[in-house]
Amino acid sequence: MAIHKFSIVYIFIFSFISNSLLSQKKTTTSELKINDSPPSISTNPSNCSSSSEAYQKKYKQQSFYVPKNKDQVITLKITVHVFKPIEDVGRWQMNDNKINGLPVLKTLLDSITNGNQERYSAERHATYQMQDFTPRYICDSKIQYEITNIYFYPNEELYVSYNDEALFNFIEKTDSNRIKEGMPLVFNGSNGPGHLSSYKGNAALVTTLQGQDLVFGRSHLLHEIGHAFGLGHTYVNSGGGGSDWQNFNAPCGSMDYLSDVFPNNNPACQHEKEATTIPDNAPCFSCYESTPDTSNNLMGGQRYNRWMSPLQMGRRIRSMHINSNLGRNIRHYAKDMESDHKHVWKISSDEIWDFDIQLYKDIVVKKGVTLTIKCKTAMAINGKIKLEKNAKLIVDGGEITGWCKTDTWQGIQTPTIKKKNKDDKTIDPILIKLINGGKISKAKIQMPIGTK
Ligand SMILES: [Zn+2]
Repeated sequence: MAIHKFSIVYIFIFSFISNSLLSQKKTTTSELKINDSPPSISTNPSNCSSSSEAYQKKYKQQSFYVPKNKDQVITLKITVHVFKPIEDVGRWQMNDNKINGLPVLKTLLDSITNGNQERYSAERHATYQMQDFTPRYICDSKIQYEITNIYFYPNEELYVSYNDEALFNFIEKTDSNRIKEGMPLVFNGSNGPGHLSSYKGNAALVTTLQGQDLVFGRSHLLHEIGHAFGLGHTYVNSGGGGSDWQNFNAPCGSMDYLSDVFPNNNPACQHEKEATTIPDNAPCFSCYESTPDTSNNLMGGQRYNRWMSPLQMGRRIRSMHINSNLGRNIRHYAKDMESDHKHVWKISSDEIWDFDIQLYKDIVVKKGVTLTIKCKTAMAINGKIKLEKNAKLIVDGGEITGWCKTDTWQGIQTPTIKKKNKDDKTIDPILIKLINGGKISKAKIQMPIGTK
């Protein structure tokens, strides 16, 4: 069968219908699917135990990734796949219909890409008063989204299917590159709400969003993409899951608890008594935000919400570094970029990296410090690892490589050893060691390497 015949490619176009103006909450309940497949790691898994102090106390923490002013912007690529009836009718159409035609879909997607509203956070506003609770406000989250393409698939059966796997399989069979191109954002016409999904270990979204209300559409998409980054609801779930405490492993007292979203000893908690499911959050005496006590948090469920807390931003950026999101890899869809050579990661005490990390900045190993790579470290384009005087790099069964598809990383820069005179017999110290099968790949310059 010529499947191809039925797939028409449209670049940057869009459309929408909408039969009701659902509240965000209604659309986003019972939407989460947890996929427990483990993160995929290409190097020897025994080296990637993620048990080092460096990982536990630093690189695993969302607080470590809270963006700073000078940080570079990371771009998440998103690819839109629209399933539609064979005729040009349905929720999103390929024509220029003013309600659900391509120009409308394009307008909607424009509103959450290229630094429009997905990158910059609003200031926090809440309907309840809390003394001593003023979370730090950061405007620039340093992550933006970009649409790579919009593809249409006229297919009556899949248009109304609840089977995510069948949708992703169809896309992949149509053109296997499309599923890898950007995080899949699939639209169809089943009556289910939007939800977080995954395909082959990578994050994906499926939604039945329609046109008509672009403000709702904007918050709905921002909210669903938020899930793909590992963010949960800040409101109580009435069923199905999706909450930050219960489904994203971040209850009070846990490493990922959002202390800058949920105030402790919150008087608004009295309204939680009205909720049907109340999690035990006693140590913090914090509560979910439920109407009427809510804030404008991005994951809070109301249609105008656009506030992200610093820790939520940190969690988003962490997801672009570490595949930490329950088998829904999202860093896989980072857009290729030049490594930041100016604002670098400085390693100033000995560290063992027994975890798989994707980097966007150069690394500088400070004087006399040893960095040991046991798992996989992937550098951005022209990324460098600079060793200062007497600093050492040991690749112990791990790999340093590049993650970008379009270009390689630079390599390891060692300090110049000055000889006192031409008869100086001093032997250059061995600064880089490859042991236990450790390797360096995809570097532009293979540095002189000691192998002992
Ligand atoms: Zn949700």
